[in-house]
Parts: sequence; structure tokens; C-alpha cells
Amino acid sequence: MSRAEIVDWATAIYEDLDFQAVRRWLEEHPGRRAAGYLPVYVPREIIHACGMLPVGIHGGGDRLDIIRGDAFYQSYICHLPRSVIELGQTGRLDMLSAALFPSTCDVIRNLSGMWKLLYPDQYVRYIDVPQVGTPELGAKFWREELEHLAGDLGRVSERPPSEDDLRASIAVYNRARRLVRALYEARSRAPWDVPTEELYLLMRAGEVVPVEQFIERMEAYLAAIEREPGRRRDNSRVVIVGAFCEQPPLGLIKTIERAGCYIVDDDFLLGNRFLAGDVPELGDPLTALADSFVRGAMRSSVLYEPDPAGKRRLMKERVEAARADGIIFAAASFCDPALLDRPMLRRGAEEAGIPCIAFKYAENSGQFQQFREQAGTFSDAIKLWGGE
Ligand code: SF4
Repeated sequence: MSRAEIVDWATAIYEDLDFQAVRRWLEEHPGRRAAGYLPVYVPREIIHACGMLPVGIHGGGDRLDIIRGDAFYQSYICHLPRSVIELGQTGRLDMLSAALFPSTCDVIRNLSGMWKLLYPDQYVRYIDVPQVGTPELGAKFWREELEHLAGDLGRVSERPPSEDDLRASIAVYNRARRLVRALYEARSRAPWDVPTEELYLLMRAGEVVPVEQFIERMEAYLAAIEREPGRRRDNSRVVIVGAFCEQPPLGLIKTIERAGCYIVDDDFLLGNRFLAGDVPELGDPLTALADSFVRGAMRSSVLYEPDPAGKRRLMKERVEAARADGIIFAAASFCDPALLDRPMLRRGAEEAGIPCIAFKYAENSGQFQQFREQAGTFSDAIKLWGGE
């Protein structure tokens, strides 16, 4: 497949708010079921091992008018929950048999409660990920949660997973994780070959289609960028921080890159990379998943950081790893986890002499002029003065 064909395929999935790809999969696989999940992380291996299709739900972005969703929420919270409610209330998520709400913040907790009341026929679970400083305690707690989830989803799907099913699912997601890492590394090495707009679309499609198809498309894209390299520009290299839950509109990602900033690391769609390494494929699969989470989850605002100075150091570590010139703090308006962390992260970055700018967006922001000017000026300033 050519690069353009892969991007067109991913764009069509991204734009389809009716989740036709999921509906087709369900038609083609009678008796199978789909489980939706919200950002940031759920153990998709468990959903897959139950024979279900995991479906990432990221709101309606800038493509959905909010008519009913506003009635459920006050104005001073982020946009994501009202657009997820809108998707639900317009029947666009009626193909789901389960909905999982990972513990990122109170908004998601409330949304999971609303979902239970609104959709009593769906299995709804608030996923309490471990938030403790002791890995042994966190792993014990998380393994019990995983066991509970596997039991419940096994009943929903009527296919309770065996240990071999779970190990096979871990293996297939390990393959996907390796390819995701390869794509992120390729972008960091040569961001002109892997524009973030394309990488983002591919990652987003990967949250809707079966993981096996995602693997094929990632392999095809890696082959396509070898055949069709991009043209190098004199851009600055930046890390985007804070966009882990409500996603920015695609136009904002394009705007940042076209204003002269190569995005060489980000926290968009973090669930695809939340477990930093491979999960062991031997031994007890639930213990393997639990240990991988507590020892290898990506550090982000949605997880407890036991070391008080850890957050301040984090930006320097990420910038060095990505060989970036600066940081753009970009978070959804009213996003508590991102905006409460921002002063700490920014202070750490500034102490390390890393140039930074910050702005807020909503998933339905439609005007990008202000972002274009900020990102363009930032890129020029980095080129002229670096970290001075
Ligand atoms: S965008 Fe932030 S505040 Fe809103 S649901 Fe996500 S994590 Fe919570």
C-alpha cells in the first residue's frame, strides 16, 4: 500500500462518527461483541482475549454538534464528556456491549455513573488503576482488578478467556507495541518522513480496527516511508505535553507542524504506548500485565508520582530522549490533571533551560490563527536563540 492509501484509510475511520468499521466487524463476526473504552489506558489484551473488539472512544472532536450533551454538564469542565454523551444519545455507540472508563479524573468517574443510568443494558465499569508508591501493593491490587474484569467481560462475551487466550492476546499486543515504538522512533529520527498528522491518524484508526489489522497497516506504513521519504525542512523539534485525554482537533496538530515545529514526542493517544516495554508472554498472564503496568507504565499526569521531584525532572528527561529543542504545553481547557501538573512540569523545564510555550484548546476548537502565530514565533525564537 502507498503512504497516501494508508492515510486515506485512517482518515476515513477517524472521520466516521458512526463507527461503521466496528459495525461491519460485528456483522462479519456474528455472536462477537465490542467494548468501548475512554482515554487513557485500559488493558485491551483482556478485551481481545474475550473475543471482543476494543474500541477507543475519544469524543466527537470538531465534527459533532453538541445538542443534548450540554444538558448533562456544567459549562466549566472539559469538552470530552459532553461529546461522548452526545455520541451515546444519538445512538452512535449503540453497538457496544461494554463501556470502560479508566480513572483519570472525577469527570470520567461521573461519566461512568451517568453511563450506567443511561445504558443499563451495557456492561459499564470504572477502571481503578493502581495509584500507589509501592509496586508490590499496586501489582497485587491491579491483578485482582484484571481478574475481575476478565471474569465480567468473559460473561458479556460468553467467551471466558483461558490463560492461553490471554497469553496469545499479550503476544499480539506486544507486536503492536513494538511497531508503535518503531513508528515513534522513526518520527523522532526523521520527522519529515513521519508527519505527526499521519502518525496520529494511523494511531487513531488503530484504536477502532482489530489489532491484527492495525499491525498490518503499521508495517505497511513503515515500508511506505522507506519508499517515499519526505522532504526535510528547517523546523524546530518540539515535545507536546498535556494532550493525553481530550484530543486536540487534527487541524491544531497540522497547524503546529506547518508553523515550523516538528513534533518529535507527544502524549496524544497515550494508551497505545502506556506500557513502555513488552509484557512477558510466559507465566501467569494477569500477573504479567499487572507487573508491566506498575513497573513500566509511562509517567504522566494520570498516574501518581511517588518522587516529589520526579515531575520536575520529567520534562528534561523527555526532551533529552527526543533530542527536542523545546516544549509546547497543550492541554484541554478545564483538564484538571493536565493543568494542575503544568506549573510543576513547566518549572522543571525552565530550570533546565528548556524553551516552553503553553496554550489550551478544546477538541472542537475551529480557529487556529492564534496557535499558528504562537507556534511559529516559538519555532523562530528557538532557531534564533535556542534556550537562551
Ligand atoms: S480532558 Fe482532563 S478533565 Fe477532561 S475527562 Fe479528560 S482527564 Fe478528565
